[in-house]
Amino acid sequence: MGLDERADEQRKLAAFLCAALPHLLGSDRREEAERLRNAFLATGSLPENARDALMEMSAAVGIPFLVESHRGVPGPLDIPGAQALPLASPGSPVIEFLRCPHGTCARRWRRRPGAAPPSCALLGGALRT
Ligand SMILES: [Zn+2]
Repeated sequence: MGLDERADEQRKLAAFLCAALPHLLGSDRREEAERLRNAFLATGSLPENARDALMEMSAAVGIPFLVESHRGVPGPLDIPGAQALPLASPGSPVIEFLRCPHGTCARRWRRRPGAAPPSCALLGGALRT
């Protein structure tokens, strides 16, 4: 993996952790999730085994692992790294995506009518355009 790929992977994994953390903290994988978060907060990046750990945890808790997705269709959490947006097609409204305010992760969240934007679970602050 080159440096750019590694940085990209880190941003995707951070995005997944950001989106999944509230779910993981409420599960029996809480301690493991806190370890990953603390490692990220201490070093600014996730440890080598983070991808496997996140995949394993999300499978155990029943959260779809969305990091690899490049489709424009938001899933139950959101889709980190979705294609460049806003999306619009004739006759349908613009779909607005919000991003993590810190720029350290690739998280995006589709604005939903009546739903308050989530906050970054890693560093705090509401997601914004
Ligand atoms: Zn975030």
